[in-house]
Amino acid sequence: MFYSLFLMAKVSESKIDTFTCNLRCPNCYEGLDIRSSKTAMTKEQIHQMFSSMDQLIQERGATSVHLQYFGGEPFLRSNKAIVEDITLQAVERGWTISGITNGTQIDQYFDLFSRIPGKVDQIQITMDGPEEIHNQLRIRADGGGTYLQICRNVTIRA
Ligand code: SF4
Repeated sequence: MFYSLFLMAKVSESKIDTFTCNLRCPNCYEGLDIRSSKTAMTKEQIHQMFSSMDQLIQERGATSVHLQYFGGEPFLRSNKAIVEDITLQAVERGWTISGITNGTQIDQYFDLFSRIPGKVDQIQITMDGPEEIHNQLRIRADGGGTYLQICRNVTIRA
């Protein structure tokens, strides 16, 4: 039996926030106030989250668990400590991991991914077309485009 858990881990300071993002895409489904918020999961909240998941997995008799990060933007530089903590705990449990990201800060996570070979089975980076179109749709807070930044990150990893 395959069991899938979709975990939204967007964090930075004191409480769970699943929608924080560093970009200001005009077609985003989230409100700017939500994307701009700076919040975080605490160690205690992470502990509670895993306890709940462990209980659910046991109740369902799951034999395979997959953790997916999405948001908002999960792989922000400011989220790294918390994402690393969650990821390593998931790997300890034998879970596999994937994520959906805007790709602008994913390079900050390559060292983490390298430490858990075979555990991250997919990182999906959102691109909205060729450079000119993408840069009109995937915009940084200062108004700049993100196309070249994402391409650089993908190239570094390749
Ligand atoms: S990257 Fe995604 S979550 Fe962030 S502003 Fe753009 S559409 Fe919204």
